[in-house]
Amino acid sequence: MEKQITNQNEKPLKSSTLEKKYYVNGEWKTAEKAAELYSPYTKEIIAYIPQATRSEVEEVIDIANDTREEMEKLTAYERASILEHIAQLFQENRMKAAEIISIEAAKPMKFALGEIDRTIETYKFAAEEAKRLTGEMIPMDAAKNGANRFGYTIEEPLGVIGAITPFNFPQNLVAHKVGPAIAAGNTIVLKPASQTPLSALFLAELIDQTALPKGAFNVVTGSGRTVGDALVESNKVKMITFTGSPAVGIGIREKAGLKKVALELGSNAGLIIDQGVDLTQIVPKCVTGAFSNQGQVCISLQRTYVMEELFDDFIAQFAAATKELIIGNPLDEKTDVSAMIHHAEQERALSWVEEAVENGAEIIIGGKIENDVFMPTILTNVASELKVSCQEVFAPIVIVNRISSIEEGIAAINDSNYGLQAGIFTNDIQTAFKASKKLQVGGIMINDVPTYRVDQMPYGGVKESGTGKEGLKYAIHEMTETKLVVWNQ
Ligand code: NAP
Repeated sequence: MEKQITNQNEKPLKSSTLEKKYYVNGEWKTAEKAAELYSPYTKEIIAYIPQATRSEVEEVIDIANDTREEMEKLTAYERASILEHIAQLFQENRMKAAEIISIEAAKPMKFALGEIDRTIETYKFAAEEAKRLTGEMIPMDAAKNGANRFGYTIEEPLGVIGAITPFNFPQNLVAHKVGPAIAAGNTIVLKPASQTPLSALFLAELIDQTALPKGAFNVVTGSGRTVGDALVESNKVKMITFTGSPAVGIGIREKAGLKKVALELGSNAGLIIDQGVDLTQIVPKCVTGAFSNQGQVCISLQRTYVMEELFDDFIAQFAAATKELIIGNPLDEKTDVSAMIHHAEQERALSWVEEAVENGAEIIIGGKIENDVFMPTILTNVASELKVSCQEVFAPIVIVNRISSIEEGIAAINDSNYGLQAGIFTNDIQTAFKASKKLQVGGIMINDVPTYRVDQMPYGGVKESGTGKEGLKYAIHEMTETKLVVWNQ
């Protein structure tokens, strides 16, 4: 059948050298249809991406399923060597991998390079954890009926893992799924976000050079609903590991039946700034926390609660530092802030700011789109029921509100449907301890912004921020089945 390339309105287009293929069983395949991929910054077409049909996805799942045994036979040493090789290939292709992220996601190069450095670490951690995959001894004779029994557990691979990933960290968040899946001896079908398939396809190019059995890692591109549903509804897929928005995650959970599901979802991360802290140390961290990757980070600093003694100084210093940010082309290494992922997302962010202003909020800086870039925005006096406060803003917008007690700040942070990470800056050990106990989140950063993350730490939220933990050791545990063996001696 003649291949058709269609745009999002399904109009036929001319074939092009930018046409990409998806990766299955160590081979590159075309789909019947393709969609245009645009650069978020230049708005130019950068590729045509295959849009797999449900039956094409099912074929890929079959291949991953057929490769299970071969994958399970690999020793821990072999799995670790493959992961080390992936890390080394990223090291050798560091600049190219970062440029791909920058082009398809408009992530400024300084952050894209940072993402690749983290990706390298993530695969290295996965390699190390592959060698530490142990079960435990069970003291059988601690029970009345346990005499003469010898018991232990082993961690067995699940089989096919369906990995569905978001646009905002198209290489490192993929690594958080592919790394542990390989470490545990699973096979993978990866469905990257429609805006960032090129990073996933580049990963396939790298993995193709390793000793990973063909068919153990596959990338299938296409719409979230078609590819996602095929993965989520397949009986051959034993686990869905998803990172993305709460709405999609909750839908996946409802359709997944009895298969394992790990959900890493959104948040509106909060920070408390106590009196007496040194703002010169804190303000640069807040600027990075709020505005890196245009605020499109699941733990982006969105809500800041500052004790009244420091409020005016903090606002002045935060605004001055924000003004210094360099706005522009993501490929320019000096750029701090560039375009958001879609024009429609910038318009959505603008409408949320307008709603806030209509309801009494004050813009300290930003609040507008200039040269097609949503400008870094600080708002104050924001009521908690407004969208910029209670929903996930996922844009370079941060609110700063005044508090008169730490309890008020803790209550404000907890007044949220989300609970991924939170931060507090304080010099008072009792205050830090109280905050660590009372804040309802998956991770608390004392004397840091909530945006702090390194890749081996357990990471995952409560409430609508998700279920299950990432961080290599923890994700590997989620991707195995614990089997008990009891010997009657
Ligand atoms: P998204 O719209 O939820 O998309 C995430 C992935 O799900 C994409 O691959 C998407 O494919 C796919 N998808 C869409 N509809 C689907 C369906 N019905 N069934 C199965 N899969 C489907 O999220 P995003 O805009 O890419 O990313 C931003 C969100 O991710 C934010 O909420 C952010 O907080 C969250 N996030 C969380 C973490 C964390 O670790 N907690 C980390 C990063 C991001 P298409 O692109 O083809 O629609």
